[in-house]
Amino acid sequence: MNKSDIHTALKLLDKKQNIIVVPHRNPDGDAMGSTLGLCAFLQKAGHEAMVISPNEFPDFLAWLPQSKNVLIFERNPQVATKFLKEATLVFTLDFNALHRTGEAMEVVLKELNVPFLMIDHHQNPDDYATYMFSQTHYGSTCEMIYHFISDLGHKDLIDKDIATCLYTGIVTDSGSFKYPSTTSTTHRVVADLIDKGINNSEVHNLVFDSNSYDRLKLLGRALENLIVLPHLKSAYITLSQKDLNEFNFQRGDSEGIVNYPLTIKGIDFSVIFIENLQEGITKISFRSQGNFDVNLFARNYFSGGGHKNASGGRSDNSLEECVVHFLKVLEKDNPAKL
Ligand code: 5GP
Ligand code: MN
Repeated sequence: MNKSDIHTALKLLDKKQNIIVVPHRNPDGDAMGSTLGLCAFLQKAGHEAMVISPNEFPDFLAWLPQSKNVLIFERNPQVATKFLKEATLVFTLDFNALHRTGEAMEVVLKELNVPFLMIDHHQNPDDYATYMFSQTHYGSTCEMIYHFISDLGHKDLIDKDIATCLYTGIVTDSGSFKYPSTTSTTHRVVADLIDKGINNSEVHNLVFDSNSYDRLKLLGRALENLIVLPHLKSAYITLSQKDLNEFNFQRGDSEGIVNYPLTIKGIDFSVIFIENLQEGITKISFRSQGNFDVNLFARNYFSGGGHKNASGGRSDNSLEECVVHFLKVLEKDNPAKL
């Protein structure tokens, strides 16, 4: 953060604030790690602070320190709205467009008349925040939160729990340190977090080695459904509601499946389409390696967005219609054309 941003943040946090910290809908490791880590820091710095998540977070993150204190907007909109209305400051973390909190919560957030402070690493931020700390070169919002706390001069307040939260987001958003956004600074931050006493190996076990048998069978089905298009350097997976039901789908079970096709030699673009009949939508995730920009692809063809190598979107169209549309646009826009 530059000096004037720090000055702004220091001024805002100079007096005791009543703060709500908000992740995006369907929060991932980075969204939960950053909101819980920042929230714990703010409490230690003497503020009232609370995380309100738009909807439930996945089970594989339910061990995160303080995750039991997260208020779920969707589960209790009246209570959550009451807390939001009492806030004097709102942090929004790991997203940069208010609609990413879902329709109902977006309406409430839009009506609030308090400063909003965005800390985020996605591209093309919307203009809703009073103060915007948007830096796309960071691999994770958690890494940004570490620098934020450090720039405020409060590195000493980062304890084992806060460090564990931040480490979780750095690990999950960097694909365990393999994505190109991982820098020497990332590793220095992680070194400091390990020195704060975190059990880094245990975090990996809790996040990555806590599959259910059903989840592994769902992965098997996804790989059976995989279609590879070598001439377009692309591959895609579909999971129908029937597939999900068959394996007793739980939130978080489809996390990471989209990465598998990228392990095929010569495949640089991978997509997964997941049918959600309850919400009447198809959720889509895009991943690439190299120069193919899936943020643009998601924005141009599926009203989504995200990062250059990882993006997402949703569609009101059926699974089949989405695939037809995808195959049509893929013919003119694919990594083989680069
Ligand atoms: P995922 O595929 O894991 O849901 O999301 C990948 C990345 O794209 C994440 O950084 C996420 O924040 C972003 N993303 C996912 N869905 C959407 C969407 O519908 N709109 C936008 N703008 N970004 C999304
Ligand atoms: Mn993130």
